[in-house]
Amino acid sequence: MSELLLPPIGMLAELTHRCPLQCPYCSNPLELLKANRELDTQTWLDLFSQAANLGVLQVHLSGGEPTLRRDLEQLIAGLSARGVYTNLITAGINIAEGRIEAFAEAGLDHLQLSFQGARPATTDRIGNHRGSHEKKLETARRARAAGLPLTINAPIHRHNIEEVPEFIDMALSLGAERLEIANVQYAGWALANRNALMPERAAVERQAEIVTAAQERLAGVINIDFVPPDYFAIYPKPCMGGWARDAFMVAPDGTVLPCHAAQTIPSLRFERFGERTLAEIWTDSPAFNAFRGTEWMREPCRSCERREVDWGGCRCQAMAIAGDAAATDPACSKSPIHARMATLIDETRRAVADTAADEAFIYRRIGVVTESA
Ligand code: SF4
Ligand code: SF4
Repeated sequence: MSELLLPPIGMLAELTHRCPLQCPYCSNPLELLKANRELDTQTWLDLFSQAANLGVLQVHLSGGEPTLRRDLEQLIAGLSARGVYTNLITAGINIAEGRIEAFAEAGLDHLQLSFQGARPATTDRIGNHRGSHEKKLETARRARAAGLPLTINAPIHRHNIEEVPEFIDMALSLGAERLEIANVQYAGWALANRNALMPERAAVERQAEIVTAAQERLAGVINIDFVPPDYFAIYPKPCMGGWARDAFMVAPDGTVLPCHAAQTIPSLRFERFGERTLAEIWTDSPAFNAFRGTEWMREPCRSCERREVDWGGCRCQAMAIAGDAAATDPACSKSPIHARMATLIDETRRAVADTAADEAFIYRRIGVVTESA
């Protein structure tokens, strides 16, 4: 790894895997960590301090459901005291009275609220929690009343792709500054539910047209970000902006990872905060250096003009589909096995036609939802 190593800018802190919802596309691993494996308050504060020293400017506080941590106000205050921009990523249900205001007072800069559907029945069914849609609407109103800028996050798949126009209307009516239309990435629970979640090609194309038209029509009113689905792509996305390039994430037990699904690559061992400092892990971890930059690339990536645009795509998707984390992301049309993506889409269609896979979600396990320190 001879290229110049820059400090990280962003960090995703998964404070807990506990969540009252059970989304079948959850990015948490299949093996969820229990509350007794979570870092305590002081260890998170030490980690945040080291992150700020390392150059991190933005921290996304996520989960699971991060508001289940009773110490969330303290964690936000610790980051705020170091001048770090804080974004809370929440499912927005069962947040106690007064807490959103307390988060804002502690220095929270932004709140990102996910909706499983634009219709109450869809939200409640996908998250497997009756009444959740109404609670989320209330959380959005409370966030705006507390003066917090708001992003609505809409994870898109076969069961809500036709609701994209309604997601846009809902985000506008809630006074959101940003709407993220993000097609589900097939890793973790989403990979286990691929047959049930994969949309039809015609619906994907319709969705892209609707989003493009809305982006033009609503320019200056609301920012609409669009994350297209990899399986229908010509080129892959730069996953996490490139492996260990300018961001990293930390699991609830302090394991430091380049991305959500990195632990699905069996040849890599990831270190935990406390075993080494964050700076040591960022700089020297063999797992972080394994796919950093371009030197690890083989053909066709090695000589491709896009190699510093998408950084070869997603290593975890290469592992899941090619069985080789160092392969070109099969989402890329230059990959020798790109045709496998179309085959997988066809297989999901056949599975839906042959069975009740369309309806049968493997719901994420719910976990214990009591608050912890
Ligand atoms: S179950 Fe749903 S709401 Fe909970 S962490 Fe996973 S994706 Fe988010
Ligand atoms: S060949 Fe590699 S670098 Fe080129 S577009 Fe495809 S994934 Fe990106």
